[in-house]
Amino acid sequence: MREQPKVLVVDDEESVVVTIKAILQLDGYDVATTTSGVEARKMVRDQEFDLVLTDLRLEDGDGLEVLRAVREHFPETVTIMLTGYASLESAIQALRVGAYDYLVKPSEVEELRSTVARGIERRRLGLELKSRVVELERANKEIVDLNSSLQRRIDEATAELKERYEQLKELDRMKSQFLSIASHELKTPITAMSGFLQVALRRVRRMSDGEGGQPPNESLRPVLEQLEVVYRQTGKLARLIDELLDVSRIQTGRIEFRYGDVDLGELADEVAMRMQLTTTTHQIKVKRENGAVVTADRDHIEQVLNNLVTNAIKYSPGGGSIVIAVGRDDGGVRVSVRDQGIGIPEKELESIFGLFYRSPDRAARDQAGMGLGLYISKEIVNRHGGRIWAESNGEGGSTFHVALPRVPVGGTPPTPK
Ligand code: ADP
Repeated sequence: MREQPKVLVVDDEESVVVTIKAILQLDGYDVATTTSGVEARKMVRDQEFDLVLTDLRLEDGDGLEVLRAVREHFPETVTIMLTGYASLESAIQALRVGAYDYLVKPSEVEELRSTVARGIERRRLGLELKSRVVELERANKEIVDLNSSLQRRIDEATAELKERYEQLKELDRMKSQFLSIASHELKTPITAMSGFLQVALRRVRRMSDGEGGQPPNESLRPVLEQLEVVYRQTGKLARLIDELLDVSRIQTGRIEFRYGDVDLGELADEVAMRMQLTTTTHQIKVKRENGAVVTADRDHIEQVLNNLVTNAIKYSPGGGSIVIAVGRDDGGVRVSVRDQGIGIPEKELESIFGLFYRSPDRAARDQAGMGLGLYISKEIVNRHGGRIWAESNGEGGSTFHVALPRVPVGGTPPTPK
């Protein structure tokens, strides 16, 4: 509001106007006056007053008309009605058209001053409130704008993420498809190769040993040895391809289980006996309780045990004992495979079950493998509702535990893609 509030005084009696003007000027107001209602209406249209004091009855019009004109053009302007006599009716009339207050003529100087001062204060507060409201509205608009730009950015980011997700899903689908096709395509020739190799080996061995009355052919010995190496390598390749096929089946949800009663103690004996044939530096022992029977898919559980014992051999290059312990545990059965090998660092105990995970450790890297065995084992155990985990205290070797429930319970079948 202006430093010097602007006041308009309207009264058809010249003396009243002059007196009021004098009084108000002393209080520091900038006072304009008129004795005409018509003139007054024009003045309040043309400029904004802070306060308008007007007589109710004017010779050429009505004070209420002046009030209306003020309200219409500058609704923030405070108006005070002057009435010739004190009546409830005139007071109500004035207040009804929006007058802030009214004064009865002739009014006391002090009353006039304080009423005008209050009116001006009211005007100041009103203006302040209005500017606050304007500020608030601006802030509100900013918030709304910000909000909508934020929403737009969120929408954009979401759309981008969705697109990436779709791309990833497509890539993942292609990867699974590739895995499936590649492993099937590889499987056929490798099966043929190992068949032919077996036949060739048998023939060369016979010729080299001198069967059927023929003399032994010493010169075939190195050929025989080379063929044996090729045959062993082919076997390794075939096992890797089988693992790839398994992963592919797991990932596409095509792995099938046929459940039946399996005595895990007997199974452990079998696996131990077979695996013992592959090593001379390790002693594979079984410690078992009788009656460790669960309902499970025998072939797949055998595959898990094979994996664990193969790893136990592979990752204890210095040899040593490997113990398969089978016992009843928590309503089901627990099988543990303990070796005295290179051990597993604490921080890798979980990640080794990941797809294609291989330890960055040199000692582990030196062994052939693709990091699929434990991933497959975990999937198989999970599908039985069981649990597989590893323990290792560094140098002292590792122990892998498989806990299977008595009957398979709500395992986590892989989601088909
Ligand atoms: P792979 O043997 O083909 O690498 P696995 O999934 O069977 O794949 O094993 C994953 C990793 O876990 C191995 O590379 C090795 O680092 C670690 N690991 C598994 N078994 C043992 C074990 N008995 N002792 C030490 N490390 C092991």
